[in-house]
Amino acid sequence: MSIEKSSSIVLSTMPYRESSILMYLFTREHGRIHGLAKGIRTHDRRGVPVERGYLIEHMTYLKPHRDLHQVTDCHIRQHYPAIRGNLEKTAVRDVLFDLVLGGIKVTDPHPELFDYLLRYLSYLDGQSCDGSVLLLSLSKTLFGLAGYLGFRIDFGRCITCGKGFGKNVAAWLTVDRGMLRCGDCSPGQAKTDRLLPGNAAVYFARPEALLFREIPQLTDKEASALLHLACDYCRYHLDIRRRLESLSFIEHLFAAPPPAGEYGRQR
Ligand SMILES: [Zn+2]
Repeated sequence: MSIEKSSSIVLSTMPYRESSILMYLFTREHGRIHGLAKGIRTHDRRGVPVERGYLIEHMTYLKPHRDLHQVTDCHIRQHYPAIRGNLEKTAVRDVLFDLVLGGIKVTDPHPELFDYLLRYLSYLDGQSCDGSVLLLSLSKTLFGLAGYLGFRIDFGRCITCGKGFGKNVAAWLTVDRGMLRCGDCSPGQAKTDRLLPGNAAVYFARPEALLFREIPQLTDKEASALLHLACDYCRYHLDIRRRLESLSFIEHLFAAPPPAGEYGRQR
């Protein structure tokens, strides 16, 4: 057994017995781990109100060949109050976390992905709450997640003719092969081909330093379709079978309200 100090993103929590919590954590050092924090759901000084989405520091007692590790001395480093206090932001974060939980099945270090997730959480915490911006930046982050796990897409140019995409050059993504082609080079579409607006491809192609700047103007409907595409891509390549409740919730949350007066006319 080894004892280590770790930084972790709390991916999920579940109460366990009277005062303990079972958590899935994404640690910088080991990737995804399943941890048991004993006695932290108390009201005395040992109590730490750990929730999904927090960045925490803790000691980990790692037992080789075991699935559950003991977690002690939890301290909250960052609780991202603006995400926690906003339903839309919490909802987009939950889609990302559900795909991380579904897509990473073994304990295996991914330090770059850990830093990437932290950057996204900081960005989301400071971001305004425009619906299509939240959905587009989430889609970009999901394609980035797939990229860190070995399924990166070159959004820069058509794989056949080498042409870049843009406002007037839409892109076809062949989901199962992770290939992007322009309309001219995609005469007979494959079954898994999906169309995306060229300006979205340009945005996804931008280096991560520009991750969240110059977000294209798309309607909520287009942004929602792109999010579905990004989720389908992750699910296909990361072998995620279960239904994403968090995605259904987003649909519900961002669904446009009916135009004013629509019901009046029906009467
Ligand atoms: Zn082409």
